[in-house]
Amino acid sequence: MFKKVTILDEKEKSLRKKSVPFDSPVTKEEKELVEQMIKHLTYSQIEEYEKKYNLRPGMGLAFPQVGINKRLIVIVDEYQKGKFDTYVVVNPKIISHSEEMIAADLGEGCLSVNREVEGHVPRFARVTITGLDLDGNPIKIRAREELSIAFQHEIDHLDGILFYDRINKKKPFYNENEIRLI
Ligand code: ZN
Repeated sequence: MFKKVTILDEKEKSLRKKSVPFDSPVTKEEKELVEQMIKHLTYSQIEEYEKKYNLRPGMGLAFPQVGINKRLIVIVDEYQKGKFDTYVVVNPKIISHSEEMIAADLGEGCLSVNREVEGHVPRFARVTITGLDLDGNPIKIRAREELSIAFQHEIDHLDGILFYDRINKKKPFYNENEIRLI
């Protein structure tokens, strides 16, 4: 049975807290919540379920958004129509990144931000992330383009940062000569 995840709104102060690293294994309850998050994100990207369950489309969630201030992120990436890659990273860390910067041309959205926020969010074009899987095994992921943006967006949540914090208030939009828009 499908059960929607309860996602905190940006007004919640806990979203602005720095989350603590996992220093012990992910519990059974936490793993179940992760499964629910994966299903929610996947369904939100499938039109039929998006409508049926009235979901806002999204590709990522971080634990603080579901009320747990611990460092864990979930990303469900539709790499091809109807095909999804799922990433769950415990204690994620960006260990290296490109010099090149990009921004989503249409701006970013967030399942905790229930309003339109306009502006380009500068991000690294490519990042390498390390962390642990749900069983505590070390993992390393290389991400580029949209997926790279998603990882940076979700890791920001663990530090209490929301995407619009990174929009330049004086000059919210870039042109193609300043940053590559995707
Ligand atoms: Zn978000």
